[in-house]
Amino acid sequence: MRALMRGLTDAEFERRYGQEEQCLVALMASRVQAGMSCPACGHGRSYLCGRRVGCTRCNRRWSVTAGTVMAHTKLPLATWFRAMHAMSSTKQGISAVELGRRLGVSYPTAWYLHKRLRHAMTERESRYMVGGPGTDGSAPVVEADDVYLGGERNQGSGPAGKTRVIAAAERHPRGRMGRVAMQVVSGFTAAAVRAFCDARLAPAAPVHTDGLRAFNAFGGAGRSHQRTITANKRPSRERTSAFFVLNTAIANLSTAIKATHKAISAKHTPDYLGAFCWTTNRRRDMVGMVPALCRAIATSTSLTRRNVFATDTVPIG
Ligand SMILES: [Zn+2]
Repeated sequence: MRALMRGLTDAEFERRYGQEEQCLVALMASRVQAGMSCPACGHGRSYLCGRRVGCTRCNRRWSVTAGTVMAHTKLPLATWFRAMHAMSSTKQGISAVELGRRLGVSYPTAWYLHKRLRHAMTERESRYMVGGPGTDGSAPVVEADDVYLGGERNQGSGPAGKTRVIAAAERHPRGRMGRVAMQVVSGFTAAAVRAFCDARLAPAAPVHTDGLRAFNAFGGAGRSHQRTITANKRPSRERTSAFFVLNTAIANLSTAIKATHKAISAKHTPDYLGAFCWTTNRRRDMVGMVPALCRAIATSTSLTRRNVFATDTVPIG
């Protein structure tokens, strides 16, 4: 099991994805698997001609990267794949500065790559729900809590300038951590909690929270909701205790932010959280990270420079 917690070695990565042609084949395979069809006639069968894809019915051609986060890229696919490897082979991820250094590209190029890959992870992650039955049929309990990120330290102990996040983690029997989901919300209100439930919680998943008033909304729609008043109590360090897995996930998030960012801006927090959850939820198959990220790219939507630099994702709720 330990061995799986490490990603591909650099040598193995080079063997599988070191050549432009190998990356092209891998990306094309993921796009076909994701159901790529001709933009002109909707036909589902295509052929590859360099970096262009052609329709076997009407002969329309388009780029293998069209319509994804990689759209309009001028970089070699091998550079993208090296970025995918660098960003997914450790639990903390890496900063855009470090990515630029490893790839030998400028900081703006690295930043934009970094942003787009995190966006693909976030889009993929937003389609998953937590709290569904495990592969062994066990039903996890979803622990959820409010988290404040970023903001100015010297504005007192209140949440001024901070980004509000609902964090949730599956607690399986014997305290095993399952999937995590984290989402920026406009405030800790009943409406935001209901929006979080609709977007990220499996129907009827049991939820366990502290006594925050807005969290009563977790109890709607026939969902079982357990509340434990935790005010002023130190969290228990027992693995099987309430909120142990959630507190572990939040501590890991904090470590990852410190390892890669001086400060995390509110604008980029949604993609930061999406990428963190994507990586956390795939931690048991680190070797499969590059193909998984390739699949995430194949199902992503394009992100133009304009919407990267304009106001980002609107918080839910
Ligand atoms: Zn066609």
